[in-house]
Amino acid sequence: MTGELPRLDVPVTLNDTQFLWLNAVMESARLPLRYTALGPGSKRRAKVDYVVQFHRDHARASCRLFRELMKVPDPSQDTPFTGACPACGTETESAWACPSCGLSFRSGTAADHPLVLFLRAHGGYD
Ligand SMILES: [Zn+2]
Repeated sequence: MTGELPRLDVPVTLNDTQFLWLNAVMESARLPLRYTALGPGSKRRAKVDYVVQFHRDHARASCRLFRELMKVPDPSQDTPFTGACPACGTETESAWACPSCGLSFRSGTAADHPLVLFLRAHGGYD
């Protein structure tokens, strides 16, 4: 047997509210979603969480819809900051962080976050 697995593991864990919403929207968009419910069997989990898989044939559309629904930011859209640092007032020019106090001017999501890498690899940012 050769060939790639038909399913892609999405590297996030969703709570039941997120999952039910995602599942409903993706179903109506005809993007099949496969999921596994986790817990609450173990002591560490009080509630049921979900991990989801996209079908490889629908990876791009699934990733784009997921990114839109979950409002996943695009770290590549970050731009360096020029102006007075909002924290300490130091003048900066095209800086990613304040040279004086260290305040980061980036958005909250790292470019190498597993979810960002996953979505980018499968066309979610196209
Ligand atoms: Zn500063």
